[in-house]
Amino acid sequence: MKKAIVLLSGGMDSAVVAAVALNDGYDVAALHLNYGQRTQSRELQAFYDLCEYYSIQEKLIVDIEYLNQIGGTSLIDKSIPIPKNAVENTQIPNTYVPFRNGNILAIAVSWAEVIGADAIYIGANTIDSSGYPDTSKEFLEAFELAANLGTKFGIAGSSKLKIKAPLIDLSKKDIVLTGKELNVPFELTWSCYEDNEIACGECDSCLLRLRGFQEAGAIDPIPYR
Ligand SMILES: [Zn+2]
Repeated sequence: MKKAIVLLSGGMDSAVVAAVALNDGYDVAALHLNYGQRTQSRELQAFYDLCEYYSIQEKLIVDIEYLNQIGGTSLIDKSIPIPKNAVENTQIPNTYVPFRNGNILAIAVSWAEVIGADAIYIGANTIDSSGYPDTSKEFLEAFELAANLGTKFGIAGSSKLKIKAPLIDLSKKDIVLTGKELNVPFELTWSCYEDNEIACGECDSCLLRLRGFQEAGAIDPIPYR
């Protein structure tokens, strides 16, 4: 059976991506990163719950505390307030973690080489997103090329590593609908940037999620303040 690594943050998009990878016929290995973010413990819980739900045996949890040392983002630095009700803002918000996806993908590529996975699934999305530059299609294509050039995947005759972003062109509404179709357990996921027990309902991540459920005519099963 072919194997894929899913970047499973514990958020709703990552859960839908895991469901898509399984539906594509892959044996899924799940990667989760702790980087000192405010909701680290809640996201890790969501990761474990989703792995249990999907019977994912192969898991890797990596602490990338150095992102905490680097800082520069409100997701980690509590002296920078997380923007509230600012989802319409067109600038890159301070919740952007500098090159986080680049760091995470690099770890995933290393792991893929070791465990023999030939695909990496990422929940990157450019439609209903906060406009982070490391989620763009161009970036992911360039990263895939770099990953193949810099690993054993690039040797002639070997299979190529694919970076798959099946949600890249979907609205949040369509992500919810795709998840519903694949019976994703949304109640196990966590998206809020700010809180660990009851979602704030005001950060970009909560607002995009709530709007997606609303437009899909569905109820978001997690608790909101
Ligand atoms: Zn929130």
